[in-house]
Amino acid sequence: MNVDVHEVAPGVWQARAKHVAWVLIVDGGEVTLVDTGYPGDRGRVIASLEKVGRAPADVSAVILTHAHPDHLGSAEYFRAEVGTPVLVHEKEVPNATGAHIEQVSVATLLARVWRPDVAVWMRDIVALKAARVDRLAAVDTFTTEPLDLPGHPVPVPTPGHTSGHAAFHLPDRGALLVGDALMTEHALARTPGPQLLPSFFNHDDDEALASLELLSELEAEVVVPGHGPAFHGSPRAAVAAAAASAR
Ligand SMILES: [Zn+2]
Repeated sequence: MNVDVHEVAPGVWQARAKHVAWVLIVDGGEVTLVDTGYPGDRGRVIASLEKVGRAPADVSAVILTHAHPDHLGSAEYFRAEVGTPVLVHEKEVPNATGAHIEQVSVATLLARVWRPDVAVWMRDIVALKAARVDRLAAVDTFTTEPLDLPGHPVPVPTPGHTSGHAAFHLPDRGALLVGDALMTEHALARTPGPQLLPSFFNHDDDEALASLELLSELEAEVVVPGHGPAFHGSPRAAVAAAAASAR
């Protein structure tokens, strides 16, 4: 299974597959799993747990930055098969359950399929079963209170990419997990480095930029995105780079 697992802060491991990343926050024998890759990444999610010496049954909860298919991939598997609670922000519930799906349309992507990078990426995500993601049959929610889970993640609502997108601040570990509020590398990005996702992936670009301002106020030594490697620097520096690239 092709997955790279790196410890980016004490007990905080970023697992990167070809097109998406997720995070394992380890505390003793327990793990908080932040996002779950594409449906086709399931073996890689399990392999990433094994690489840190854990198994699916050690996952105390799955917390989702948002419910796009590349983050939601194995969430329903954990809930239904392993018995793991899955939590999202209240405003992300419709996206997570499929009651109201908020994501780029196939028509929007097909309009760009003349771009070689888009064509190759689309072929890959079809193979990763993006269109066949299992929505959640039941889901719990978090507020902005610190979660009583490994790493004590503090949800930071950061709407824009989706209406209920949330980042997770780990003040004890000096890390900020930003999901898709910003990313550092993507098959459809022209250059690497902190930036917003390509606009057609975002529900509301202006809201996404406003959310970056919130993130820049937080203290951390590493910023961990859902796409691309960790940014070793402050949220303020990552946000400044992302905001500059949006102009
Ligand atoms: Zn997304």
